[in-house]
Amino acid sequence: MSSGDGWTICAAGHRHWGLFGAAGLLLVDEDRVVLQHRAPWTHQGDTWGIPGGARDSHEDAVTAALREAREEAHLSPDDVDPIGLYVDDHQGWSYTTVVARTTRTVRPYAANAESVSVRWHAAADVAALRLHPGFASSWARLRDVPPPLFLVVGDAAADDPLLERLRRTGVEAARLPKGMVGGGLTRLLPHVVYAGSLGSSVAAGYASRGQVMLAVQPEDLKLLA
Ligand SMILES: [Zn+2]
Repeated sequence: MSSGDGWTICAAGHRHWGLFGAAGLLLVDEDRVVLQHRAPWTHQGDTWGIPGGARDSHEDAVTAALREAREEAHLSPDDVDPIGLYVDDHQGWSYTTVVARTTRTVRPYAANAESVSVRWHAAADVAALRLHPGFASSWARLRDVPPPLFLVVGDAAADDPLLERLRRTGVEAARLPKGMVGGGLTRLLPHVVYAGSLGSSVAAGYASRGQVMLAVQPEDLKLLA
């Protein structure tokens, strides 16, 4: 029994599993996503959704989603690169979807009794499946995956405590500088790159891999936090 196990009621009067909210992992590889066929005995079962479950009291959403993905779908944290979050906030309860890309070839499978099967699906086919209602309501936003975010930091910003917070909880999509996109996500999780005194040339080197932000001074981080 984990500290988050239990039912709760959100402001809209729905009954939800997870005293501290819940989190799940949406793993994306080009135009495919990993879905879990939930066992019929589970809440709103016999539907397709993503591996996920209740958060423990001490867990952030990414930690919880990665733990659940390992327990339910045999996905290792080494296989996935989290790029952002979508928070479905019901007031008093929330479900956080952690969107991640694969770092290598991944063959997920049902790892416990909560799943009938876990496998790749073409993103184009997802809407036609019998989906878990929570996942169904988020899917339109989740399929709009933005390019990964690289936060290049110079010496003066490298030891700032805000950096760890941004790495863990992400940059709010609404705070992204003009010209950068959050897709359908609520927050983007930055990949922090330490550039020493070579900030702008290092930043230029990452431009082909995703969206790049440069933080030279601690003030640059404050704008994002
Ligand atoms: Zn609700």
